[in-house]
Amino acid sequence: MQQIPVHQHDPKQVDGKIYVRLTEGHFQQIRRVISGGLMLMFFLTAWINLDGQQIVLFDFSSRRLHLFGMLMSPKDIYLLAGFMIVGAILLFALASAYSRVWCGFACPQSIWTWVFIRIETITEGRRNNRIKDDTKGWNTAKLSRRIAKHSLWAAFATLTSMTFIGYFVPIREIANDIISLNLSLEMFSWILIFALLTYVNAGLVREKVCAHMCPYARFQSVMFDPDTRNISYDVERGEPRHKNRSSNDSGDCIDCKLCVHVCPTGIDIRQGLQSDCISCGACIDACDDVMTRMRRPTGLIRFISENQEQGKASPVLRPRIYAYIAAIVMISGYLIWAFVNKEALIIDVIRDRQTLFVTNGAGEVCNEYKLIVENVSIANNSFTLGLDSTLLRLEGKSQLNLQQGQRDELNYRVCAPVNADTSLLPRQINFTAANSAGQWQQLSSFIMPQQRR
Ligand code: SF4
Ligand code: SF4
Repeated sequence: MQQIPVHQHDPKQVDGKIYVRLTEGHFQQIRRVISGGLMLMFFLTAWINLDGQQIVLFDFSSRRLHLFGMLMSPKDIYLLAGFMIVGAILLFALASAYSRVWCGFACPQSIWTWVFIRIETITEGRRNNRIKDDTKGWNTAKLSRRIAKHSLWAAFATLTSMTFIGYFVPIREIANDIISLNLSLEMFSWILIFALLTYVNAGLVREKVCAHMCPYARFQSVMFDPDTRNISYDVERGEPRHKNRSSNDSGDCIDCKLCVHVCPTGIDIRQGLQSDCISCGACIDACDDVMTRMRRPTGLIRFISENQEQGKASPVLRPRIYAYIAAIVMISGYLIWAFVNKEALIIDVIRDRQTLFVTNGAGEVCNEYKLIVENVSIANNSFTLGLDSTLLRLEGKSQLNLQQGQRDELNYRVCAPVNADTSLLPRQINFTAANSAGQWQQLSSFIMPQQRR
């Protein structure tokens, strides 16, 4: 197992603020496309409705999850767990192949941190200006720059918080309540809490989350092997580094430190692989730019595996990756099958507890029930409702036609002749619903006068 050193920060940045310099280049373009796409998805998906229903909504009040036109109940929670397991294996495969590219390119913590750094650069200027600003005293210009930065951070954090909560409470309701100044104190508090968390995470704590709070930084070495592509500085080519390449034995590194200045976690990758590196590729882009300007080949810092460094064959697709892919295919296959064949109907039976039984004009003793039925399949369905006992008579609607996602509350009576032999009558009864796809049932109790002791 490859051991990854924990910290080797640039000495000037230890215990201090990290002033990140934004850079341009191949990997930054890829990162922006991925993070821009994901961010757009996050902000827009909550607003998309299908047949009047928000397409992604974790509705805790009715214990239902609406997912792209499908309805899931707590019984389907194992499906969600399964999809999360597939996601985790995908992450392992990605880490084994290309180290922490998930962290650098797609993790929400990084994406939001980059946005906050961009806002900081727009409002307070580039890295050098920000350092100068921090060493100078306060004046009106500095104060207005700070106010602008923190206001934009706060606005973006609030927008993020409202959207996030909009996946648990219909987002249009939240928006209407805000517009009509009718927001409840509870909702206001939730928005405030998540906005604060976003603000602190992406604005103030930043790379410390990746280094100290995210467990991934610690166990990543388990997933690395000699074929894993890591961000690596070519020591042989770069050293000895010299600011002006006057000496004949100078390496290609001109010690400009741009690779350190652009690093969002503030490390110097020239010290070797470190656990704080989130594989964002910013140092590659910065160094490639320097090398191009120096008319030297690019790639002084690059994604390379240990085996490649030693000139050995190093395929990305290897047995370990094939094993991950096989696991993903098998679990996904099972989940898709389970999803298509998942429970089509949920029946809840609520027995009337006010009146144990009533007698009707036909000389029968009846118990009263409320049935809550919900079609949670991916299609409209019809069901025939009945009882599992032929000794009892069910009074109520026997044919149910439910649209996909439709929920109905229906009243039923279960009756038996008043003089029936109670020893033959069941005390436990099952309400059944059946169609050509299967049968569903829910247990309840039946009480006759003689059964009271
Ligand atoms: S950016 Fe490249 S040349 Fe500049 S210090 Fe880093 S490795 Fe050396
Ligand atoms: S060392 Fe390079 S790849 Fe790693 S986090 Fe810093 S800039 Fe990104």
